[in-house]
Amino acid sequence: MKNALKRLKRVLDLEASQGYKNKAVVGGIRQFATFWVGQAREAAQTEMDKALVEQVAEVLTDYGRLPGTEARAKVIEQLQSKLAQRREQEPAPIKSSAPPAKEPAKPVETAASTPPPTPENRKPKPNVRREPLPPRNKKPGKWERRPANRKPVDPDPEGLAQSVTAVHGIGPKLAEHLAKIGASTIEELLYIFPRRFDDYTLMKPIHKLVYGETVTVIGTIWETRARRSRNNQIIVQSIISDGTGKVQATWFNQKWLVDKLKAGMQIVVSGKVDQYLGRPVFNSPEWEPLELEPLRTRRIVPIYPLTQGLSGNRMRDIMRKTVNYWARRVPDPLPPSVRQRQKLETLPEALQQHHFPDSQHALHQARRRLIFDELFLLQLGMQGFRHEWQSQPGVEIEKDTAVLTQFQQSLPYTLTNAQQRVIQEIADDMANSTPMNRLLQGDVGAGKTVVAAAALLLAAKAGYQSTLMAPTEILAEQHFKGLRPLLEPLGLRLCLLTGSTPTAEKAPIYAALASGEIDLAIGTHALIQEAVSFHNLALAIVDEQHRFGVDQRQALRDKGPASGEYSPHLLTMSATPIPRSLALSLYGDLDLSILDEMPPGRQEIKTRWIRTRERERAYAFIRKQIEDGRQAYIIYPLVEESDKVDAKAAVAEHERLQGKIFPDLQVGLIHGRLSGSEKESVMRDFYEGKLNILVSTSVIEVGVDVPNSTVMLIDGANRFGLAQLHQFRGRVGRGQYQSYCLLVADSDTPDAEERLSALTQTNDGFALAEKDLEIRGPGEFFGRRQSGLPELKLASLLDMDMLKIAQTEAQTIAEADPNLEQPEHALLRQRVAKFWQNAGDVS
Ligand code: ADP
Ligand code: MG
Repeated sequence: MKNALKRLKRVLDLEASQGYKNKAVVGGIRQFATFWVGQAREAAQTEMDKALVEQVAEVLTDYGRLPGTEARAKVIEQLQSKLAQRREQEPAPIKSSAPPAKEPAKPVETAASTPPPTPENRKPKPNVRREPLPPRNKKPGKWERRPANRKPVDPDPEGLAQSVTAVHGIGPKLAEHLAKIGASTIEELLYIFPRRFDDYTLMKPIHKLVYGETVTVIGTIWETRARRSRNNQIIVQSIISDGTGKVQATWFNQKWLVDKLKAGMQIVVSGKVDQYLGRPVFNSPEWEPLELEPLRTRRIVPIYPLTQGLSGNRMRDIMRKTVNYWARRVPDPLPPSVRQRQKLETLPEALQQHHFPDSQHALHQARRRLIFDELFLLQLGMQGFRHEWQSQPGVEIEKDTAVLTQFQQSLPYTLTNAQQRVIQEIADDMANSTPMNRLLQGDVGAGKTVVAAAALLLAAKAGYQSTLMAPTEILAEQHFKGLRPLLEPLGLRLCLLTGSTPTAEKAPIYAALASGEIDLAIGTHALIQEAVSFHNLALAIVDEQHRFGVDQRQALRDKGPASGEYSPHLLTMSATPIPRSLALSLYGDLDLSILDEMPPGRQEIKTRWIRTRERERAYAFIRKQIEDGRQAYIIYPLVEESDKVDAKAAVAEHERLQGKIFPDLQVGLIHGRLSGSEKESVMRDFYEGKLNILVSTSVIEVGVDVPNSTVMLIDGANRFGLAQLHQFRGRVGRGQYQSYCLLVADSDTPDAEERLSALTQTNDGFALAEKDLEIRGPGEFFGRRQSGLPELKLASLLDMDMLKIAQTEAQTIAEADPNLEQPEHALLRQRVAKFWQNAGDVS
């Protein structure tokens, strides 16, 4: 190490004496750094020396980029003084074979670089997370919940959970910008991936340039001039020569370039070759001085997502620093066996290459690894949940065909084939001692309630209790009202329990649930409060899965018989149609039931796409419907006017509609900024007919069933996705009256046009889901809010091959170690928890 340090000192001194021209070593200081770091890394023995090497590496790599003598001098001085410090602290040579003396504990600090996470300086850092990430709700998530008889693992030995400000060059201001694109910690920053890459690896001599080609040219600047164009733009033009020919490069409105691009300078230019008067030219190409490390020319250049106040070059610079230092410190959660089997590279490699790829092949490999990770974590989470739910036996509930027949005969209509099939699937599951964990999908109006009723009836007839949970009080009440006439005549005892159940009524309900007097409890989260205990809960039905997080499902499970020795059978109902192919590959064949057939005689909702100037006519139509005693919804995309989107805002529009268009009617308003209880109260007024018209943003989506409402007017319909539009439409046509959906678009992009005309053509939710997937791609289709699944950054759920591989590998692991309790899975367990942290927890 001593020799390496000596060499470094000589170079630093020489550079200082030459006036910081970056000429102390042929090829520049950066060149020296590459060479020196290689040797020094090997020589460094102590943690402190290792840290020193990395600091020096970082500083010297940047040296050539520093803007002037002053900045360079400062950096060199800092390094020199650090070396001096190091010499003072050098322990006296030890002759015996005893281990070297421990380094002094005082960490080396510089203003110029990130203190690397040596054991000495890591511990006291206040913002390093010691615990697994805090769960969002006070209760721990399922992955944290298991009793820990394992050794506690340091969740962040490298300090990756530090704030991004720990990276040299990121201050509080920039940290704010980065937070906007989703990066508060270093680790999160590493996962801000480029939107795309520009490939400038093709190098050509100037006389070989071809129009339209994206290439890199290296040459010398002959001259640079600035002039003003006719429309008053400043145009900077350089003539670049490489001995084979000359090419002109032009930049617009960057006057300062005149001083930068001096004649004689060696420059690298990357971009698309244009032509002007028959000659090849570059317009606004990327450029860099030749002596710098290639960052935006002659390589595959990452193009990052930007926010205001953060330029592409700045972002690239930050990412290079972050990736160079931190990527190789990211621990790889993937068991080596999986990595080898699937021929995946390590996580540090993949992160490095997915930011600054060495080649297209390297980029492809990196992408493959990162996509695998996402799908693998997704599958591990889903399978882990299933395994955990099924790790304890369920209660076998007899599939009593006599009961089912009696039930069918009691109905005023015949069940559809789909309903009959699904009831059989559910009854088969419940007859099994492995607890059911089934997802029931069916479009709005497909008749899920009656299917649920059949299952609830079977449980009650076998002597067990069941529960049905809904995300809002109104929905719970609706279920209560819908199920009571189906089940009470058959002898079931029902109760409704929500947050607003009067306290006086709660005590008797609690008592009746505990004693088993009540067969079926319908309600909201109030059902999984501490105070509630069941006598023998054997079936739980959860409505609208994406409103329930993992924690709530866990709490539900804890209400099972003998508090957790059994798991109740679980049926989740969702009205968000997922294309069948997708659903099957995600959930597997066994656990999914699809109601893909509508009850007969359903009135079709008439859907019209009208012009903006027909709005007044639409209002007149609504007025007519209201005069006939009906109600209407009017939907707007946003809550308040925004500069960016000139959409009609619900608040302003509500004022206008109430004041000018419908002054004599009751117009209500609901939007996302209202509290839960405010929303409920507006919904209730509409539900009870106190409001004629309800103006709303998309919060109405999973809403109430108001059979009296017959018009759904969606203003700015082009701004919503197809699946969402279909959900809106499903709010009407729920009673005996002919219903209408009117779409007004404020612009007509081809995409919007395709969506809106698809909507006017069919009422089939599954067909529309397929179409939506086709138009928008799975990333958007599976917006988190829609699906209850974690967000995927790179992976596509349509990548069936990768999904299969991830599924198989997850299965292997989940079978051997379902709760990821083995020490070699500790990291994986953390990652799964983090990946799933916010999924499905939408309010
Ligand atoms: P969703 O799947 O949206 O929950 P519901 O269960 O609320 O649908 O059913 C919508 C309406 O269709 C209800 O009024 C219900 O009585 C009716 N219904 C359900 N099944 C049938 C059927 N097989 N034939 C006729 N009407 C049905
Ligand atoms: Mg329903």
